[in-house]
Formats: sequence, structure tokens, C-alpha cells
Amino acid sequence: MLAEHEFDRALVIVAHPDDAEFWAGGIIACWTDAGFAVTYCVLTNGETGGYNTSVPREDMARIRRAEQQQAAALLGVTDVRFFGLAEGELRVGDKQLRRELVRLIRQVRPQRVVTWSPEWNWQRFRSCHPDHRATGEITLSAIYPDAGNPFAHLPLREEEGLEAWTVREAWLINSPQANHYVDVTETFERKVAAVKLHHSQTGNRQNLAAELRDRIAANTAAAQLPAGRLAEEFQVVITG
Ligand SMILES: [Zn+2]
Repeated sequence: MLAEHEFDRALVIVAHPDDAEFWAGGIIACWTDAGFAVTYCVLTNGETGGYNTSVPREDMARIRRAEQQQAAALLGVTDVRFFGLAEGELRVGDKQLRRELVRLIRQVRPQRVVTWSPEWNWQRFRSCHPDHRATGEITLSAIYPDAGNPFAHLPLREEEGLEAWTVREAWLINSPQANHYVDVTETFERKVAAVKLHHSQTGNRQNLAAELRDRIAANTAAAQLPAGRLAEEFQVVITG
């Protein structure tokens, strides 16, 4: 894995507003606290999410965008890119989206990309949204073979001056093969606060802090941390 001095930029590519906070809010806050730059890319509007039937559906995309910006800011992230795609419509074979992600990777030039695992995780069926798996598949394809190949997507280099960029590590969330655990005890309260800022999605959940704690409790033992500590889990894949 990357040594501390080899890392200063991360790109988080997720399907919906709130994915980043739920799954990686702790590590994101740790990274920004340490002075590393983190950029978010949220692919869809998340317009079919939520619980409150009195909120007009046509307002949901705007509401969630605002919530996402507030939650990101709380975790120290001010660079949030919204791709504005329709929720539920992400497709693995979307070549245009793949090219857009190559452009973004070459602009941001991150050493680490955090994204969804493209695999089914049968232990957590309801986290395997088709948008999540498609996000992982397209993002990993944009990382390799595309972003690092100067001859892929030639106009990006010849017309926009975007040189090839090799991402070194992909950190996959909701992977059935987690292999890396990070102690996020110090930033856990901020993660909870950031998830709560997604009020249109979580405003009806009274025990959100306990839910989030329970959700990652098993990671404490897997990470061989003392009782009471909290860890987020990832599958770290060496990509370059
Ligand atoms: Zn999601």
C-alpha cells in the first residue's frame, strides 16, 4: 500500500448522495484532518430516495444536492462534482460515463479512489443496489485500462491536455472481500452528524448513531482493535 508521503489526493466516486458518508465518512474525515485533498463525484441525483411522501418528487434532486454539499463540508470536503444522472439508470456499458470518469480522474489526479465494489455481497443484499455495482464496474474500468493509458480517449489528451494518470489504489466499499480496516473512532461522531445532514433520507431514524455503530461493530474484532474502538472496512486493490 501507499506510504504516507505518497498520498495527498483522494477521489470518492459514488452512486447516490449519502453513500460517501454512510460508508466512508470516518476515513474521509481522517484524511481531510491530515491535510489531504478529497474530491467527491456523485453520479446520480438520488431522486427516488427518502421516506417523506409530502416532499414533492421534483424537489428531491435539489434537496439532496444541498444535503450532500453540507455533509461533505462537515467532513472537510468542498470539491463535490454532481453528474446529475437518473437514479436507477446507471449501466455498466455506458461508454460516455466511463469517458467522463477518465476525464475526472485525469483532472483530479488522485492516488486513491474510493468507490463501490462491483461485486454482490450476499451478507448485505440490500446494499447491493444496481447503481452501486455499476458505479464500481465503470469506475474500475475508467481506472484501468483507460485513465493511465495515454492512447485511450485520445481527445482528452490532444484537445484538453489531460495527460494519462495512474491511480495507485482503489478502496472498495461493501466488498465481500474486505481486507483493510481503519480505526475511525476519533471521527465517528462527525460521520454520524454528516449522515444526519441527509435529513431527507435519515430524518425518520431516531437511533441513527446506534445503527451506524452496530453496522460497523463487527469490524472492531476483524481489525483486532480493543473493544469500544470503531473501524470502517474496505477492500483495497492495488491498481498501479
Ligand atoms: Zn446508494
